[in-house]
Amino acid sequence: MSDRTPGEVVRSVTSAFERTFGGAPTGVWSAPGRVNLIGEHTDYNGGLCLPIALPRRTYAAAARRDDGVLRIASVQQDGVVEVALDDVSPELPGGWGSYVAGVLWSLRRDGLSVDGLDVLVDSTVPLGAGLSSSAALECAVAAAASDLFDLDLLGSPEGRERLAARCVEAENVIAGAPTGGMDQSASLLCEDAAALLLDCRSGETRHVPFDLDAAGHVLLVTDTRAEHALVDGQYAARRDACEQAARELGIETLREIDPAGLDAALERLGSDEVRRRVRHVVTEIERVTLAVAALESDDLEEIGRLFDASHASLRDDYEVSCEELDLATATARSEGALGARMTGGGFGGSCIAIVSAADAEAVATAIATAFRGEGLTAPVSFTVTASGPAARDS
Ligand code: ADP
Ligand code: MG
Repeated sequence: MSDRTPGEVVRSVTSAFERTFGGAPTGVWSAPGRVNLIGEHTDYNGGLCLPIALPRRTYAAAARRDDGVLRIASVQQDGVVEVALDDVSPELPGGWGSYVAGVLWSLRRDGLSVDGLDVLVDSTVPLGAGLSSSAALECAVAAAASDLFDLDLLGSPEGRERLAARCVEAENVIAGAPTGGMDQSASLLCEDAAALLLDCRSGETRHVPFDLDAAGHVLLVTDTRAEHALVDGQYAARRDACEQAARELGIETLREIDPAGLDAALERLGSDEVRRRVRHVVTEIERVTLAVAALESDDLEEIGRLFDASHASLRDDYEVSCEELDLATATARSEGALGARMTGGGFGGSCIAIVSAADAEAVATAIATAFRGEGLTAPVSFTVTASGPAARDS
């Protein structure tokens, strides 16, 4: 699934559409997965994050219908899901179809005129690997809907931001995942060879050049393929702890805590656990600012140090790492990576490391060997470059 070219996926998703729905799609749209370079668990705290879009994308071949019915199928799932748009709810259609149905539901709620669709999905983003296959799916469908219903939202940053907000609402309300807004913004707004600095308080974005190739380095992504139970509950618990701390401190979000005033803020908090959660969030937001400065001055070593500090903070203070993420990052470091950290929500998912291009293969092999030594499922590593946003492909 991983090494197919965009052209191959466009052709195969088009023929899958024809086989499933019996006619040609009007077009194919795609949207990327993402990795967050740094700034983890900061989005729902009004903080900063710094994602790049991946070359791996989710493709949606689609055609409009005029009867209010949505029919969806995916190469990655069995069967065809069918639901009337009027019936879409957190219960219906349920399962993976809720990510697609939720987007149309939310566009309608926003007063936009959308009708039914036939959609066939295929993806080169691994599902559930912390690389945001869910947002890639939503954003590919949102892009298709924008063009097919003449919403004209892909042509401007404001339009794309509006689509991103609809996709967030779809994921929160219909798919029932309480995620922040980073994934959808990354998928709709990122540009080639740049990271997206996202201010989740103001909604402002800025493109920061990100091109490791020029410096002879690559970003190595390792999907740990770790599966841990209770992930959703843990995510919600972290959010709750942050909200509780903000209430105790009488502030809107943890973003308002100045790093220089962190110790004073921590002293006012009642529980040691909440203190550690807050310390992660505040120091992590500061690390994003430092990482942007380091990128702008081509200081890769500093970015590596910030990756390592971010990982330690997520492991020790936020407690969202796991054996697989700790082993992958530690192995990357001992094999010469400039820095390595878990990326995404945690408890599994992926890790990223900055390694010299010449070492990438050896680092990936060392991680696989270390996993084998511990009896863990074989991880999957690949290098990525910062890529472009949701767009029409054909
Ligand atoms: P991540 O976004 O990190 O990949 P999530 O748990 O947020 O993990 O989203 C994964 C879920 O999104 C899948 O379980 C499935 O329901 C849905 N999904 C993502 N991509 C696809 C796809 N190509 N086809 C069908 N469903 C998909
Ligand atoms: Mg997701």
